[in-house]
Amino acid sequence: MDKVAILRVLDKPDDEEIYAAVRAAVEMIGGPAAFASRGDTVLVKPNWWWKRQFIPQDSRSDAYSTTDRRMVLAAARMFSEIGCRVKIGEDPECFLRTEEVFASYGAAELASRSGAEVVNMRRNGFQEVLTVGGRLFESIRVLNDAVEADLIVNLPLMKTNFLTTITCCLKNMKGTIPPAEKRRFHQLGLDQGIADLATVVQPGLNIVEAIIGNDVWDIDNGTKAVGCIIAGDNPLSTDAVVARIMDYEPTEIEHLAKAYELGVGELELEKIRLIGTPIEEVHTPFTKIPDTIRLVEQAGLKLVQGRVCSSCLGAIGMAMAELGPERFAGGPNIALITGLDAEPLPEHLNIFVGACTRRAFEENGRRGLFVKDCPPTCASTRFALLHALGERPEQDYYWDSVELAED
Ligand code: SF4
Repeated sequence: MDKVAILRVLDKPDDEEIYAAVRAAVEMIGGPAAFASRGDTVLVKPNWWWKRQFIPQDSRSDAYSTTDRRMVLAAARMFSEIGCRVKIGEDPECFLRTEEVFASYGAAELASRSGAEVVNMRRNGFQEVLTVGGRLFESIRVLNDAVEADLIVNLPLMKTNFLTTITCCLKNMKGTIPPAEKRRFHQLGLDQGIADLATVVQPGLNIVEAIIGNDVWDIDNGTKAVGCIIAGDNPLSTDAVVARIMDYEPTEIEHLAKAYELGVGELELEKIRLIGTPIEEVHTPFTKIPDTIRLVEQAGLKLVQGRVCSSCLGAIGMAMAELGPERFAGGPNIALITGLDAEPLPEHLNIFVGACTRRAFEENGRRGLFVKDCPPTCASTRFALLHALGERPEQDYYWDSVELAED
């Protein structure tokens, strides 16, 4: 039976208190020696998809959305202490340089304090690994450091996500595949891709940071105090518990349901051995994710989809949710054009979202707005919408991502 332990922690724990809490949570499911032995290679994999302290102006959604570095220190130290060779590794957002991301967390210092080493997984190559009954992929390219580790210690953050509703243990493993493979997931089907990946990369130990979670839809600042650490020996079973704490039905989370169908873990809480603090005592409802297409319709805008990834649709949905559909009442006729081969609409103010729409933007005589990133950020998309409404005429940092019409 899979085991998941919940341990309450102090509101503002210091380094030693976090170490003690991580250790105590892992002890509740057997202790570090149950997961690795002296001489084993242990990959500690946080959710460092973005640089630390990246808090965009006028945006709440990207703030505080990465694993607390002290959790990484604690996990690395715990396995170094039992004689393992510990690597701290991550493959962040495709367009970010891994070294810069690591530097923002002081990863080298964390490594020296814990006896670990930092690895740029993107540089160490990958292998094609066969999935076990994968429904979308027969094989997936996985970075060598993940394939070769005797144990992966998965360190996700409890948070909502505009593409997958929640993102925790299973989705954090997307950081073990190279950038081109991540893009393939987004183009062909993120939920099934994550599920298929779960048959290939199986973190033996999952330690979820839920001291302060991240609720991307929360209108205050995105932080959500939950006040616990969760340790589990199976990523899907741990995610099922996480989902319930966040007030979601685990079976409603698509990538969890698909992974369950592939037999990688449990979704029914009755079949998981729950240890420590009861779920009800840390139950913290997160905001429910709005539907992109419905939001666009409610706002009276048009959405033209070509061959589009979930990232572009997600950026649009998130921007629309933050602005609110009522904001567009009486405004210009706006059309959102996204994905390869999407064509602009006549007599509309066309906003081209994502690098794939460059050709359409050019062929439209550069009329309209072009959010040129791949994937585009929620902030750039929101600023383009605000500009279309005449509410944001000024140029600032984010306008680097938005090209204005030449006429
Ligand atoms: S621009 Fe959007 S649709 Fe095109 S590859 Fe990037 S994320 Fe996918």
